[in-house]
Amino acid sequence: MTDLATHLARLETHLARFRDKGILNLIAGADVAGDQWFETRSPVDESLIARVALGDAATIDAAAKAAKAAFPAWAALPGDRRKAILHRIADLIEERAEEIALCECWDTGQAWRFMSKAALRGAENFRFFADLAPGARDGQSLPTKDHLNVTSRSPIGPVGVITPWNTPFMLSTWKIAPALAAGCTVVHKPAEFSPLSARILAEICHEAGLPPGVLNLVNGMGEGAGRALTEHTDIKAIAFVGESRTGSMIMRQGSETLKRVHFELGGKNPVIVFEDADLDRALDAVIFMIYSLNGERCTSSSRLLVQDSIADRFHAALTQRVNTIRVGHPLDPQTEIGPLIHQTHFDKVTSYVDIGKADGATLAAGGMRQGDKGWFIRPTLFTDATPDMRIAQEEVFGPFLTSIRFTTEAEALQIANGVAYGLTGYVWTNDLTRALRVSDELEAGMIWVNSENVRHLPTPFGGVKASGIGRDGGDWSFEFYMETKNVAFALGQHKIQRLGV
Ligand code: NAD
Repeated sequence: MTDLATHLARLETHLARFRDKGILNLIAGADVAGDQWFETRSPVDESLIARVALGDAATIDAAAKAAKAAFPAWAALPGDRRKAILHRIADLIEERAEEIALCECWDTGQAWRFMSKAALRGAENFRFFADLAPGARDGQSLPTKDHLNVTSRSPIGPVGVITPWNTPFMLSTWKIAPALAAGCTVVHKPAEFSPLSARILAEICHEAGLPPGVLNLVNGMGEGAGRALTEHTDIKAIAFVGESRTGSMIMRQGSETLKRVHFELGGKNPVIVFEDADLDRALDAVIFMIYSLNGERCTSSSRLLVQDSIADRFHAALTQRVNTIRVGHPLDPQTEIGPLIHQTHFDKVTSYVDIGKADGATLAAGGMRQGDKGWFIRPTLFTDATPDMRIAQEEVFGPFLTSIRFTTEAEALQIANGVAYGLTGYVWTNDLTRALRVSDELEAGMIWVNSENVRHLPTPFGGVKASGIGRDGGDWSFEFYMETKNVAFALGQHKIQRLGV
C-alpha cells in the first residue's frame, strides 16, 4: 500500500509540467493560452498549484465555433466508431487513474480513499455510454390504420457542459460521455476552483483519437466564460451541475437563445431512521453519506430524521463515531476527511456553526477548525434541531449533519418534504409496508431503502423541486442530448379532405 510520502513524490512528477506551462485551454485540438491568467491553489496549504489560462467571451466564441465546425462529421460518424473511441478514452483513464486521483485530491482536498475510486468511475461512465452509442439514434415504430409513424433521434448540436468543483472528474465524465456518445460536440467550462483534472480529461480524449473540436476546454469564471457559454447562439443546450441559484441564472441567461437546459442542483437530503431499523447498518450509512467526500456531495444525507424512541441511543453512538473520524492530508490513505475546497467555502460552512448555535440546536461534535493551515474542519454534528432552523433548511455542503427528532411516520414525512430541495432520500426500516408508503410519499428524484447511495448507471439520476430539471443515465441522457423526429408514412389511400372543389 502506498503512503503519504509516496503519493506526494508521485504528485510532484505530475504537477511539474503544469508549473512550467500553466493549465491551458484546448480549442480545436490546440493549446490556447491567452493574455490573462488566474491561479489554482491547494486547499491543503494554500500553495500555488499552477496558473490557469483565463477564458473570456472571445475564448468561448472560438471554442463554440470549433464545436460547430466539428459537429457534422462527428454526428455522421457511425455509432460503432464513436463507441470504439469512447472505449479507448476509458482505457486511457484507467491507465492514468492514479495521476488523475492524485491531482484531484491536491486540487480539491478530497481524500484519496474516495478519489481513487472516482477516477475509475469516470472510466466506467465512458464505457457505459460507449456501449449505448450504436443504438442512440434508435426510435419507435408507432403504426395506425392509415400511417406508419417512425421516430428517430439525432444529436442536438454543439452543447455546453458546466461543472462544479466537488468530484469534478467523475461529474465531468458523467456529462461529457453521453454527449459524445449521442454525437454532440462539447465546450466544457470546469469550475474555477478545480481545473486540473478537466485538462487531463481533454488531453486523454485527444490522445484516444477524438477529432479536434469535438471536445473543447475553456477555463474561466462563472460570470465570464460560463455566462458567455450559456448565451452563445451556436450552443444548443447546457448541461449544468452546480448550485440551484446558479441554475436560475443560467436559465435566464439562456432564455434569449432558447437553450435547452439540464440541471443537477443542490440538495438537503433526509435520511429517516425508524425505530425498527437495523440500527448498526443505519449508523454506518448515516455517517458515510454525510462525512465521506468531505460532505461536499449533492446526494449527501445532510438531515438525519430519527425516531424519538431511539434518538438518545442513536445520537450517543453517532457522536462517539463522529469524534473519531480522521481528518488529515487528503493524500494520506488513512484520511477520511480532507480540507474544504477554498476559504470562501470554509467561511460558509463555519458560518453555519454559529447559525446553528444561535438558533438553539445542540452542537454535539466538531464545529471547529483543525490546525492553522489549510481549510480543515472537524466533522460537525448538531442534534435536537427543529425543522424550521436554517441548518435544517439550507444546503451547507460540508461535513455537517443536522439531526431532528420525530415521533410518527406522518411527522417524518412532513419534515422530510418540508424543504425547497428534492434530490435524494434514504429510509431505514424493516417494515416493508412502511418502506413502500414512505418511499412513495417522499419528494425526491432518487430514494434508497436500507441502503446508502449505491449507483447503478442505467437508472435515472436527478432531482425534483429546487434540486434539478431532467434526468441522466442510460436513455434519459440521450433524450437531453438528442432531438426526436417523427415521420408518418401513408400506408394507402386514406381520405384527404378536399377543399375548394
Ligand atoms: P456553482 O453553481 O457555484 O458553480 C458551478 C459551475 O457554474 C462553475 O463552473 C461556475 O464557474 C459556473 N457558474 C457560476 N456562475 C455562472 C453563471 N452565471 N453562468 C454560467 N456558469 C456559471 O456550484 P459549486 O459551488 O461549484 O458546486 C457546488 C454545488 O453543486 C452544490 O450546490 C451541489 O449540491 C451542487 N451539485 C449538484 C450535483 C447533482 O447531481 N445534483 C452534483 C454535484 C454538485
